[in-house]
Amino acid sequence: MNSLFRKDLSDFKPYEAEVNNCKVILNANESFINIEKQLEDEIISVIKDIEINRYPDPTGEKLRKIYGSYSGTDKEKIMIGNGSDELISIICNTFVNSGDKIVKLNPDFSMYKIYGVLHGAEVLEYDLKEDFTLDIDDFIDFINYEKPKVVFVSVPNNPTGGIVKKEDILKLIKSVNSIVVIDEAYFEFYGNTVIDEIDNYDNLIILRTASKIGLAALRLGFLITNSTLLMELYKVKPPYNVNSITQEIGALIYENKQVIEDNISRILREKSSLQISLLSLSERINFKLYPSGTNFILIEIYEAKELYEYLKNNGVSVRFFGKGRLENCIRITVGNRDENRLLLEAINKFLGDR
Ligand code: PMP
Repeated sequence: MNSLFRKDLSDFKPYEAEVNNCKVILNANESFINIEKQLEDEIISVIKDIEINRYPDPTGEKLRKIYGSYSGTDKEKIMIGNGSDELISIICNTFVNSGDKIVKLNPDFSMYKIYGVLHGAEVLEYDLKEDFTLDIDDFIDFINYEKPKVVFVSVPNNPTGGIVKKEDILKLIKSVNSIVVIDEAYFEFYGNTVIDEIDNYDNLIILRTASKIGLAALRLGFLITNSTLLMELYKVKPPYNVNSITQEIGALIYENKQVIEDNISRILREKSSLQISLLSLSERINFKLYPSGTNFILIEIYEAKELYEYLKNNGVSVRFFGKGRLENCIRITVGNRDENRLLLEAINKFLGDR
């Protein structure tokens, strides 16, 4: 049987999505606000009208129109995906042949590498500086030397929370002959975007997701680009990739921009108070807090593994990476007030127990 398997995947490690029984879940950058509950009656009523015996709208016309006005772009430039994960896969499948190079940052979102490898690419990683900032000129030189087909950059970065200035992103896009994917998964928390630049560059693709604004269960992502690249990407997109329930709920929620904005403000308020508390803790013991343009905070602490395990044993789940530059880092998603309090109490207890 093994002879039928792909040899190049024999040592391949799939993405490990942690399932846990912790009471406080701060490990996956989800929103602590369940947006579907807030619009429950309307959601039930749109679901009732769905013809479940029919295939979904293949391009999600209505949803694209609504997302277009939410995001300030034209619906003709948008493709919908089953989460932005699927759109990353579609990008690789569209542009990468076996043996082609793709470039991602290190650290950055791991799915770029996973889909790159699955599509047979040689995945090159370019290291961020010691403080997790990007040397943009050196990065451009690296890309022009390696000549990859596709470059992936998340802005803000997951897992560091760091940002790249808009002028640097534009410099990158115009200085290289590769497709540049700017993944704006955390756009709502950061506020800056290059979406208004779509028509100015022939090699720019933007990704967005509904997962961070309270809709992770829906699996809904958006790709925004020019019509030439979009035509290529449509060759690869599975026809009915986003189901009708997701399309309808997505359309309803993106029409309620005020609800989304209020939730984001609430998350940002909790983030500020969590940052302040962590900062005062970090003065007591030696740990570092990285600046964040997202709904999570990366901390660097010598006993990261012990702290991660202690938190887990005390019902608080955070993200621990345990290798490379992230060896001593823990990523904490901002929770609600009670969750953040439980987290801080547990960290305090960990420090006291040492
Ligand atoms: N890009 C980045 C940078 C992310 O952090 C994530 C989610 N962790 C995704 C894409 C994937 O989002 P989705 O849930 O839409 O697949």
